[in-house]
Amino acid sequence: MHCFHRMTSFCVILPLHRNIMHELSIAIQITEIIEEEAKNAGADTVLQVQLEIGELSGVEMDALEMAMLEAVRGTIASEAELIYHQIAAKAVCESCCNEFEPIDVFKICPFCNSLHTNLLKGKELKIRSIEVVTK
Ligand SMILES: [Zn+2]
Repeated sequence: MHCFHRMTSFCVILPLHRNIMHELSIAIQITEIIEEEAKNAGADTVLQVQLEIGELSGVEMDALEMAMLEAVRGTIASEAELIYHQIAAKAVCESCCNEFEPIDVFKICPFCNSLHTNLLKGKELKIRSIEVVTK
C-alpha cells in the first residue's frame, strides 16, 4: 500500500547516531555551521539562533544547551540568544495510512499495531534560523 502524506521540508544537518555523537560535538558542529553562514552573510554579530531538536533525535536538550554555551564561546555567536524548540515525533503507518505520535523508536502503529511505519518528524536536528547584524 502506498501512503500519501505531506513531507515538511527540512534539512537534517547531522546524521544522528546514538552512542557515537555527544552533545558537545554536536554543539561544535552547529556552531561551525552558524559561523560559516554568518561569514557568508558578511555578518558582524549573530543576534539569535533558533534550533529544532526532534523528540527522538537522541539529543538531550539540557545537555545540548550547556554544550552550546561552551561551543559558541569566543566565536561570532558568543553573544547570540539561543532558542530551542523541541519537535514532537510523528510517524505514518504503511499498513493503515494513519499518522500518529510514536512514543519510542519502535513506532508501533496504535491503530493496527503494525510495525511497518515511517518516521516523518522527530529525529531531526536543525537550525531553524540565524539572525545576524551585517556591516
Ligand atoms: Zn496502522
